[in-house]
Amino acid sequence: MQLHGKTALVTGSTSGIGLGIAQVLAKAGARLVLNGFGDPEPALEQIRALGTEAIHHPADVSKPQDIAALIEATEAAFGGVDILVNNAGIQHVALVEEFPVERWDAIIAINLSSVFHATRLCLPGMKSRGWGRIVNVASAHGLVGSAGKAAYVAAKHGVVGLTKVVALETAQLNITCNAICPGFVLTPLVQQQIDAKAANGLTAEQAKAELLSEKQPSLEFVTPEQLGELVAFLCSDAARQVRGAAWSMDGGWTAR
Ligand code: NAD
Repeated sequence: MQLHGKTALVTGSTSGIGLGIAQVLAKAGARLVLNGFGDPEPALEQIRALGTEAIHHPADVSKPQDIAALIEATEAAFGGVDILVNNAGIQHVALVEEFPVERWDAIIAINLSSVFHATRLCLPGMKSRGWGRIVNVASAHGLVGSAGKAAYVAAKHGVVGLTKVVALETAQLNITCNAICPGFVLTPLVQQQIDAKAANGLTAEQAKAELLSEKQPSLEFVTPEQLGELVAFLCSDAARQVRGAAWSMDGGWTAR
């Protein structure tokens, strides 16, 4: 599968799943626009080492004006966004009645509203060029709930719904929109939850095993590389009729 000549924008790609997806798209030949917090140089070096062009933009995707600047910068550097991977996301765990209102607002802004803003701003260019692929990184929590994750579950269910609407609005174009629904992936976002368990007296290995055994029947983490390969498939011509899907890669989590 070749993505030579295509430009991929992956939000939240300075670490974790986003970086894994960016690496697979770069191997397929796409130019990359990375985004996210922290020092972008290690991620940029990894992508450029794969033989493709890459830039980083520091947009905070909780801010619509930053998302507009991110897409304008992509257009200026590479001519436009062909592949949009809405990946940036955060988590906070608390019961509903104790959930900090500021964390609710941040999770809805970063995990859900940013997908709307990036999509609405990228679609005109995709339509004018006659090709586009939008992949939204939802979660098993886009399909089922878990106690303590009200904002995250609400946002990810929203992403799955938004994905369906965008797929229907582009159904007769060579533009597809799909969601992927990972189970647990061992990234900083999940490490925080392991650390919280370990603080209650478990070893790190026991905490990992407990987290997986609660939800993920395979008892193995999904990897960013596996998710990257799924995104690359969704960008291929073979996936042209995959539209509005919420594609699980969750070690069996949602099969129960
Ligand atoms: P991570 O914390 O490793 O990476 C998150 C990335 O998003 C980082 O690059 C960070 O800088 C960036 N980011 C955070 N807030 C941002 C903001 N306001 N603006 C721009 N960038 C921002 O997390 P991850 O585990 O790789 O998660 C990536 C996506 O995958 C998220 O949408 C998450 O909900 C989803 N997901 C993760 C898991 C998992 O088990 N790790 C499972 C299912 C879904």
